[in-house]
Amino acid sequence: MASVVISDVRKSYGSLGVIHGLNVDVEDGEFVILVGPSGCGKSTLLRMVAGLEEITGGEILIGGKVVNEIAPKNRNIAMVFQNYALYPHMTVAKNMEFALRLAGVARAQRNARVRRAADILGLTPLLDRYPRQLSGGQRQRVAMGRAIVRAPQVFLFDEPLSNLDAKLRIQMRAEIKSLHQRLRATMIYVTHDQIEAMTMADKIVVMNAGKIEQIGSPLELYDRPINLFVAGFIGSPSMNFVEGQIEGGDFVTGATRWPIPGRVEHNNEAVIYGIRPEHIALRPGRLQLKIDLLEPTGSETQVYGSIEGIPLAGVFRERISARSGECLSIEPEVTHVHLFDKRTGRRLDTQSA
Ligand code: ADP
Ligand code: MG
Repeated sequence: MASVVISDVRKSYGSLGVIHGLNVDVEDGEFVILVGPSGCGKSTLLRMVAGLEEITGGEILIGGKVVNEIAPKNRNIAMVFQNYALYPHMTVAKNMEFALRLAGVARAQRNARVRRAADILGLTPLLDRYPRQLSGGQRQRVAMGRAIVRAPQVFLFDEPLSNLDAKLRIQMRAEIKSLHQRLRATMIYVTHDQIEAMTMADKIVVMNAGKIEQIGSPLELYDRPINLFVAGFIGSPSMNFVEGQIEGGDFVTGATRWPIPGRVEHNNEAVIYGIRPEHIALRPGRLQLKIDLLEPTGSETQVYGSIEGIPLAGVFRERISARSGECLSIEPEVTHVHLFDKRTGRRLDTQSA
C-alpha cells in the first residue's frame, strides 16, 4: 500500500484552467472521498493520479515517488469507473484475470488471485457465468474484482455506484467500506453523492470549480463547515440560510429575532444564519413556521414552509397533524446554529458566554 500526495496540482485544457492548484495528502490505507458539484474537476484530478491525464503543473507522489512522468500501467493503481464495461463474451473468472494475463502472470498465480478476490467479494458461485447472467450489483462487484486481483497500491473509484438503484447503492456502499477494512488499501473515491461521502470516508475533500473548499472528517465538515458552500453542500436536506444581522446578542431579520450561541463580535454586521432542518425543535417560542408542505416518511416528518416570508425546512421525529397553511411554533437548537459573514461567506466564530 502507499500514500498519495497531490501537491499544487494544476490542469488546463489549452487556455482553459480547470484545476487551480490543489493540495491533498492521502495517507497509507486512508479512504479519501472527493465530492463537489458536476464539472468541478473530480474526475480530472482522479485521472491525473491514474496517469490518464497529463499534469499541467505541480506534482503527484505515490508511495513517496513522483509519478508525473510514469505511465499508468507502472503506477501500481487500479481504477473502477461508473461504466464498468465487462467483456460480454468472457466469464466472470476470465474478466477478472484478463489484466493479469496481459501482464504475463502465470496461470497458477492468476487462478489463486482470482479465487481470493472472488472469495472476498462473494463471487465464487458466479465465476463461470457471463456478464449478461448477472444483476447490476453483481457486475459492479466483478468490476471491483478486476481491480482487486491486481493487488494495486492504490484504488481509484470514479462514481462507481451512480448507475445502480438506490437500494443496491446502499448495499454496495457497505461492501466497499468493508472491502477497504479487509484490504487496508489506500482508496480515493469520487462521488457527487454527499451521503456516500459522509458514510464511507475517513476524510472528505470538498471541491468547487477546480479548487478545494475544505478538507476534513465527515463530522468535522458537518459540525463546522468553513464557509457557506460547504455548509450548503454537506447535509441532506440542506442547511437553511437566513440573511440578517446581529443586534444585541440576537440574530435579527425583519421583525423576528433568532437565538445565537454565546457572544458574537459582529454587532450590526450583515450575516447569514445557518440552521440544519434536523436542528429545529418543535417548541412553543417566538418563531412561527407557516407550513407549505408536510411530508411524513414514517420515521420522521419533513416540513417545508416559511417564517415571515423566509423559506425554511424542518425535519422532526414527531408525527405532525397540522396542515398546509397552518403554523408550527419552532425554535432553532442554539448549539447547532452556524453564522457566516455575508460578504465573504466565511464562518464566523462565536464565543460561549
Ligand atoms: P467532474 O468529474 O467533477 O464532474 P470533470 O473533471 O469531468 O468534472 O471536468 C472538470 C472540467 O474540465 C469541466 O468543466 C469539463 O468540462 C472540463 N473538461 C474535462 N475534460 C475535458 C477535455 N478533455 N477538454 C476540455 N475540457 C475538459
Ligand atoms: Mg466526473
